[in-house]
Amino acid sequence: MESALTARDRVGVQDFVLLENYNSEAAFIENLRRRFGENLIYTYIGSVLVSVNPYKELEIYSKQQMDRYRGVSFYEISPHIYAVSDNTYRAMRTERKDQCILISGESGAGKTEASKKILLYYAVTCPTNDHMAALGDRLLQSNPVLEAFGNAKTLRNDNSSRFGKYMDVQFDFRGAPVGGHILNYLLEKSRVVHQNHGERNFHIFYQLLDGGDDNLLNTLDLERNPQNYHYLVKGNCPRLSSVSDKNNWKVVMKALPIIGFTEEEVPTAIIRCSNMHKISQKGITQNRCVVVFQLLGVDGSALREALTHKKLTAKGEEMISPLNFEQAVSARDALAKAVYGRTFTWLVEKINQSLALKSSKGSSVIGLLDIYGFEVLQHNSFEQFCINYCNEKLQQLFIELTLRSEQEEYETEGIAWETVQYFDNKIICDLIEEKHKGIISILDEECLRPGETCDVSFLEKLEDTLGGHPHFVTHKLANGKTRRVMSREEFRLLHYAGEVNYNVNGFLDKNNDSLNRNLKEVMCQSENQILRHCFRREEVIDQKRSEMAATQFKNSLMKLMEILMSKEPSYVRCIKPNDAKQPGRFDEVLVRHQVKYLGLMENLRVRRAGFAYRRRFEAFLQRYKPLCPETWPNWHGRLADGVLTLVNHLGYKAEEYKLGRSKIFIRFPKTLFTTEDALEAK
Ligand code: ADP
Ligand code: MG
Repeated sequence: MESALTARDRVGVQDFVLLENYNSEAAFIENLRRRFGENLIYTYIGSVLVSVNPYKELEIYSKQQMDRYRGVSFYEISPHIYAVSDNTYRAMRTERKDQCILISGESGAGKTEASKKILLYYAVTCPTNDHMAALGDRLLQSNPVLEAFGNAKTLRNDNSSRFGKYMDVQFDFRGAPVGGHILNYLLEKSRVVHQNHGERNFHIFYQLLDGGDDNLLNTLDLERNPQNYHYLVKGNCPRLSSVSDKNNWKVVMKALPIIGFTEEEVPTAIIRCSNMHKISQKGITQNRCVVVFQLLGVDGSALREALTHKKLTAKGEEMISPLNFEQAVSARDALAKAVYGRTFTWLVEKINQSLALKSSKGSSVIGLLDIYGFEVLQHNSFEQFCINYCNEKLQQLFIELTLRSEQEEYETEGIAWETVQYFDNKIICDLIEEKHKGIISILDEECLRPGETCDVSFLEKLEDTLGGHPHFVTHKLANGKTRRVMSREEFRLLHYAGEVNYNVNGFLDKNNDSLNRNLKEVMCQSENQILRHCFRREEVIDQKRSEMAATQFKNSLMKLMEILMSKEPSYVRCIKPNDAKQPGRFDEVLVRHQVKYLGLMENLRVRRAGFAYRRRFEAFLQRYKPLCPETWPNWHGRLADGVLTLVNHLGYKAEEYKLGRSKIFIRFPKTLFTTEDALEAK
């Protein structure tokens, strides 16, 4: 029989709070490693689930497994993503409070797989609503479509999500899923025009070329071989052994109608992408252009003009100046990125329409956040800056909510709260986001300042404003005092999880993220409905500068924080065991790095600050009553008295435990283990 307790599993401890030496990172990693070796990929830190990517199919996700976890509390059964799914669902049902599950971890750690397993759990186990029997289906089917357009092969993950995703699943008063809504964050648009060696463009391009039938390709005037398309082979990696583009194309084609695309929209949506190859292929030469114009539904000569000329307004007069080759190429790339990025947003809107949140009485939601974890690469740029900023915000939320829920539990149980020391990362969040003097404000200002601005002048401005800030360093400020050599183009942030150097090259451009006005003008006249929807006339008429990329991201993060704050959170922390995507390999250095950047030791410390273990009186009594003649076989008095009788008999010392209103709190794991041993010996 499975242990009815979180104590010792077959291997190691099931819950890190039961580690003897909870301050030891080595002990933490050893526990993970031993469990991983036995295919026990899940372990708790209290109610936080830590998951290690097995890189192989485990037989733990079947319908039978789902049934095992239904209605069962955390402590009674081994750790599992289904336990988190089920407990969250039950909390929503019984407490009538919105929930969210925050999944984090670095690329390839298993976040997206985890979110899919949670969705599947709900689709299979929840009651269905008669009128909306298909919703579970639509929720599941939205995945392959989003993945086709938003995922790509990278060095770290063959199916890497190149956008952050927050998804609300709405349940009606009976607990049936009835609606959903997706928010997407920071699609990596640059991938459309450039991929690093060994990486690919977004899956959909290769799926179309490999899976589209001859008729379709003819209509689109496409050749099957991706080698013919400049944008698709930048990474020199058109084929993928682990992914069948042909099959996935079929899956996407089947999914599109289910999530509510009409017949015409299906091919049109695809044409939107295919045109990208066309623009790219021969740059801006004559003969090929025609097809592009047709696909984009715009006037040919106008587009050609817009791709090769720049319109400026100076002193009220319009001036047109030709672009040189490099400028024209970059205008073409900007157009491709804009078309793709905006079409992606449109796609998400379409999916949202099909999942439409219902305004039904007594409904509540479970939100799933699958968002990039802390990123520390060899070269870190604007993208990493945004991603890591996002992680600072999530950490802030995490600490706040974890401390809050600990405190609340102590209060309801009537136990004196013991202050927990922790690092408050507000100072770093402020450094990045504060109005007027935060990094994002300075960046925006530098983008808008007339005259000669460049990435280096941005860096100088940062130094002027932020010099002396304890979490900000540059080559100049450090004055040779840092351990790691910094280049003159970098600034370093001391994040809560560790230090990261950011190279300022490209920061201004990426923040600007602008399309020439004349290109916008051409696009908003498109005959294609989708594109006209994506490129609005107002944008051209309205001379006001739209929000810059970083500020836009900051604002969307603020909204996300509000959403999450209003919900009861659960956490899944994903870890990648090796860089080779191989089963059975546990690279300790790599894991240690992630344990650090996920803040797991800090997490454990906060969780363990007071008591390692807590359990409701009845559960505790039920398990250990055989150890005391007065509680065996049944205790008839008050539960609290029963527990007191039991622990007195076991010889617990006063400092080892406390009795709350409904739970016993045990300070050290050792006390519990001794009791477990006694039980086993019986
Ligand atoms: P992330 O979203 O964190 O970047 P993914 O969820 O895409 O990572 O996982 C990367 C790959 O790892 C998946 O494509 C799959 O092959 C494997 N993987 C992840 N989680 C599991 C799991 N629980 N069981 C088996 N394989 C997994
Ligand atoms: Mg992912």
